Amino acid sequence: MPRVLIVEDSRTFSSLLSRRITEELGHQVVVVDSKAMAEDLLSEDTEFFVALLDLNLPDAPNGEVVALVLKHDIPSIVFTGEMSDNLRDQFWAMSIVDYVLKQNMENVHYILSLVGRLERNPDIKVLVVDDSKTARLVLGELLHTHRYQVLEAANGLDALAILQKNPDVRLVITDFNMPGMNGAELVQTIRQSHAKDQLAIIGLSGAGGGGLSAKFIKSGANDFLNKPFLNEEFYTRVNQNIELLEYIAQIKELAEKDYLTRLYNRRYFFSTGPKLIAAQTRREQGVVVAMLDIDLFKKVNDTFGHDAGDAVLRQMAALMSARFRASDIVSRFGGEEFCILATDINTADAGKVFEDLRQAFEANPATYNGQSIPYTVSIGLCASPLGGLEEMVKAADEALYMSKHEGRNRVTMSAMSPPGATE
Ligand code: GH3
Ligand code: MG
Ligand code: MG
Repeated sequence: MPRVLIVEDSRTFSSLLSRRITEELGHQVVVVDSKAMAEDLLSEDTEFFVALLDLNLPDAPNGEVVALVLKHDIPSIVFTGEMSDNLRDQFWAMSIVDYVLKQNMENVHYILSLVGRLERNPDIKVLVVDDSKTARLVLGELLHTHRYQVLEAANGLDALAILQKNPDVRLVITDFNMPGMNGAELVQTIRQSHAKDQLAIIGLSGAGGGGLSAKFIKSGANDFLNKPFLNEEFYTRVNQNIELLEYIAQIKELAEKDYLTRLYNRRYFFSTGPKLIAAQTRREQGVVVAMLDIDLFKKVNDTFGHDAGDAVLRQMAALMSARFRASDIVSRFGGEEFCILATDINTADAGKVFEDLRQAFEANPATYNGQSIPYTVSIGLCASPLGGLEEMVKAADEALYMSKHEGRNRVTMSAMSPPGATE
């Protein structure tokens, strides 16, 4: 359970911050109001992933608390009523995460977003590419201060190899002048396999000036930084680029997934399904489309309530997700109707695979508020590519209708499927 430390003598400000961090981010907060108390606390307990430090405390009027907290390797955000340029430079030199002026409420929002950032960063991989070891060290330390996971490469080829091994790298920061492949060439090569909305790239332009920045952007970089740069500038660029990727991922998730079950929606099914079928056909592999509908679901709602009905839908979705590969499409078409496009099944085994699934539904009642809610599902299958996805869905739907017609809680294989596909 990640915890936040606040050292602040103003009760009003510390309780405001503490309340909002607990409510909006769900973190436990420990508040102390002096450097002496912080020292006592940290001598026994240093399990904090971030500290928020007032630079002006009664027993430490010039930010002395910062050195104390940093000694324990706790990333620190400092705040104060006012800050001279001199003072600011002094604290940046100590490897703080950021500083914030506590004049208005807007800044509380900024502190909260920073705390959230620091919490997520350990899951984010950043690759630093520079032939200078010192430069890699400096960049690496800046990134570590913000709790990013850092990978290093000394040249373009190493960078490409690391990216291949670590497909989850989210940001590449690359120098321009390097032996072998320059930064812009590296960016171009990376872009052949990594889209801008999946992997951000920041180019570092050295003494060459403006021309290099343009070259980086035209090669496919998301952003650039001119050297030398201030720490503050570096962090704003890095965080901004990471945040943009997160926004894009959120929007994609909203557009592709169903809110209740987190399964793919119908739109995604029909936009991605045809590509999946084409790829399978190229490999001479089969595809199976299954339409599923919960039997007499209205009765579940009527008996246990609508919220219980929602819980059944979620648990049924989880059961399906667990049984199929990420490369299959398990989707909610709407209401209590689902459609699966499975690629990993031998066509001849399809009947058995879905009969097992049907039995799994029957054997695993949903639970809601301690109550067990049994449910059954009717399934229709199409295991022949026919004229394409829409025809397969139609055939599976007709087979589903047969399952319903013949008494529900059963699997029917479409007559359009190849011989041998039934159990
Ligand atoms: P059959 O019994 O043959 O399956 O008939 P049917 O599919 O036409 O009707 P069924 O009673 O199974 O399901 C329809 C009901 O599903 C209507 C609605 O109350 C319920 N339902 C649809 N979407 C949701 C949802 O998001 N949450 C909940 N709780 N219920 C839903
Ligand atoms: Mg229905
Ligand atoms: Mg139904």
